Amino acid sequence: MFYKSTRSNQKATETAAQVIKQGLASDGGLFVPESIPTLTMEEIQALCKESYPVRAATVLSKFLTDYTYEELLEDCTKAYAETSFVGGAAPLVNIHDQFYSLELWHGPTAAFKDMALQIMPRLLSRALVKTGEERTALILVATSGDTGKAALEGYKDVDRVKIMVFYPVDGVSRVQKLQMATQTGENVNVCAIRGNFDDAQNGVKEIFGDSKMASKLNEQGYFFSSANSINWGRLAPQIVYYVSAYCDLLTGGKCKPGDTFNVCVPTGNFGNIFAAYLAKQMGLPIGHMVCASNTNNILTDFLRTGTYDRNRDFYMTMSPSMDILISSNLERLLYFTAGSEKTAAYMDALKKQGCYSVEPEILAEIRKNFSGYFTDEAETAKTIRETYQSYGYLADTHTAVAIHAAEEYVRETGDARPMVIDSTASPYKFANDVYRAVTEKTAHSELEALDQLSAETNTEIPYPLAGLAKRKVNFDSVVDREQMAAAVLDYVG
Ligand SMILES: *Cc1c(COP(=O)(O)O)cnc(C)c1O
Repeated sequence: MFYKSTRSNQKATETAAQVIKQGLASDGGLFVPESIPTLTMEEIQALCKESYPVRAATVLSKFLTDYTYEELLEDCTKAYAETSFVGGAAPLVNIHDQFYSLELWHGPTAAFKDMALQIMPRLLSRALVKTGEERTALILVATSGDTGKAALEGYKDVDRVKIMVFYPVDGVSRVQKLQMATQTGENVNVCAIRGNFDDAQNGVKEIFGDSKMASKLNEQGYFFSSANSINWGRLAPQIVYYVSAYCDLLTGGKCKPGDTFNVCVPTGNFGNIFAAYLAKQMGLPIGHMVCASNTNNILTDFLRTGTYDRNRDFYMTMSPSMDILISSNLERLLYFTAGSEKTAAYMDALKKQGCYSVEPEILAEIRKNFSGYFTDEAETAKTIRETYQSYGYLADTHTAVAIHAAEEYVRETGDARPMVIDSTASPYKFANDVYRAVTEKTAHSELEALDQLSAETNTEIPYPLAGLAKRKVNFDSVVDREQMAAAVLDYVG
């Protein structure tokens, strides 16, 4: 299996290891496989009896053909071990007759990003060997909170990589700061900067683009790499949990082999829902895909009108991981629907005018699979409360956006097939907002909200967030933005 750029009409020539190492294609496009492998109903039925790591290795081996099945199974077994994913990697929990919650947050940071970030560093580590790279990869991350922590946990103690995370000292929550400051691992470093998230991100971008830094690093035996969400190594592992969810529907007698089911995905960068699309193209019997957004409803508008227009207000919501104006992975769907030439033109227009429109026949093709719905802040809070009161299910803010979107879709279409709703964060990650939605009271503080939510709902605080205040602080340095490069050299030197 070879890979190519979404913007190029050249033959595919890159191996999976090469694209995982490189991240972004040299023409600015995203890497896509030259064809989509098939998954038969017999294979799916055989996977019903298997564990999550086996399901993952089987699906990944169809795309990463330059990795052996044994290598993939070893990596998946370590990545999705019971010790880090307590209670299983992607359990399917019944909300009511028709709705199921696919809980993707049982990993070491209680967030959905763990599903990809626990496996991707292992794939990168092998990619270095496979491509003959002798240097160590240095991953630099600027974070506004959650991604930094998930990346630290993912890269921790993986061979041939080191990771350094920068965060704005006053720009993350107390829980997020504690999570990063108490990070363990031999190959990790965390540094706060005086400034906001943009300062951190621009600082990292400058370091990436600085050829003097690159050569100094090279002398020490390192090269820069990124943990970017558009990396194929982060996308491919996300196909697995859709297959796994269907296995669980079959095993639980909720579907018969061949019956279709729908999915609803709280969407930001369009990676998660695009993985569902790939699963469907492989042969998984997915019916319709509901793309759920919050008040930043650029994707809802796109799926209804065919125009993607980022010239609009940006809102900060209680589902911050979906606060986004550019959904990078949508480019991959455009490529599979409209081809590389049109995709390159759309992306060029997006860059120059902040806007593009797809042709009516392209929109019609996309709408055969996808519908967009959005949920505002008041509806999000109401959904958390009502889902808890009616069904005893406690959803986080992102999951609630999706539950409400799924309800709207069912109301409008009458589609009665099982609906798998991706649950992308533990309610405890957003304990303040969830506590307020359930009780209509305000918690004393963010840390106390964890205990208050637990007492109120009789549910357990997930292990990554429990006892945070008592853990040992390993990182407490704070630097100016101008000192970021020096901090990097200090770390490797
Ligand atoms: C990243 C994230 C999303 C959005 O996923 P995409 O793949 O970017 O669409 C949704 N919810 C949570 C909690 C996330 O962390």
